[in-house]
Amino acid sequence: MSSDVERRSRRAGGRPISVSFEFFPPKTPEMEATLWNSITRLAPLAPKFVSVTYGAGGSTRERTHTTVERIVKETRLAPAAHLTCVSATKGEVDEVVRGYWDAGVRHIVALRGDPPGGVGQTYEPHGEGYRTTADLVAGIRRSANFEVSVSAYPEKHPESPSFDTDLDILAAKVDAGATRAITQCFFDNDLYFAFLDKARARGIDVPIVPGILPVSNFKQAKNFSEKTGTYMPEWLAARFEGLDNDPETRKLIAAAVAAEQVFDLVDRGVTEFHFYTLNRADLVYAICHLLGIRPPQETGAGDGKGQAAA
Ligand code: FAD
Repeated sequence: MSSDVERRSRRAGGRPISVSFEFFPPKTPEMEATLWNSITRLAPLAPKFVSVTYGAGGSTRERTHTTVERIVKETRLAPAAHLTCVSATKGEVDEVVRGYWDAGVRHIVALRGDPPGGVGQTYEPHGEGYRTTADLVAGIRRSANFEVSVSAYPEKHPESPSFDTDLDILAAKVDAGATRAITQCFFDNDLYFAFLDKARARGIDVPIVPGILPVSNFKQAKNFSEKTGTYMPEWLAARFEGLDNDPETRKLIAAAVAAEQVFDLVDRGVTEFHFYTLNRADLVYAICHLLGIRPPQETGAGDGKGQAAA
């Protein structure tokens, strides 16, 4: 009898499942230790790439660069550096891009960024900056032969007047040279598939990779969802009901809920996932294990330089 994973993989057309992991740059030595423990734990799962976010308004420019550079130097992982064009001149952005190329980075996640006043304020491009994300993508592609990923919003970007506007913006980013879109997190898979259908009908043919946020802190996730306009289904709230003071059980529920979400996506043909790790490995490791993604050698025997040699 075939295993659950094999059965699911067959439904996905027999294509292998691939994953990528997103981290944020640490602020303190303790956070740095947590991040590197997580990278070391997740690296043997051979992700397609690992991405490192860029703080609002470019506030983590140095820390993002340092983290990405360390990944290049100390691991065999392929890092993707997030980069926004908010509050920066073209010259400043181009310098960051060149710095990444020189450091050996070959993949950038290109973003506009939130308005300096925060989500909900009107976005004004910098007078001497890239005006749109599509401009930024074109600038990066002009600079060097980077792989460029961009964002996508299955439930519309909060600033967007309509799905059509969002699709026009996504199409412009792809026309400018982006080869992958990664979605904002979502909890209702039907919304992702409805968006996918609209994007395909609009002629957008790059992979639109679901961004998966395993929720263990429900209250925090709810706050985030309110800001980003992500729909939090009633059933999800119900699963975490009464567990505010029970982090252990919350974690078990979180793994079950995220596994259910990714299995449903696999059953419906999805083979690529981007996990928002929040710099924690446990939940993501467990979900990848359930997806059949394992370290190549469970014995741990290596050749001196592991995927993460930190
Ligand atoms: P875009 O995709 O360029 O635009 C988003 C929406 O804004 C459009 O869909 C449209 O509704 C509206 N819009 C934009 N331009 C126009 C226009 N010319 N006319 C009309 N409407 C327009 N933020 C960070 O600060 N750092 C990060 O590292 C980071 N990583 C992210 C990773 C992912 C996968 C995602 C989904 C988001 C990330 N963000 C990050 C958040 C992102 O910066 C914000 O959502 C920001 O508000 C929009 O940036 P964007 O590149 O998604 O914008």
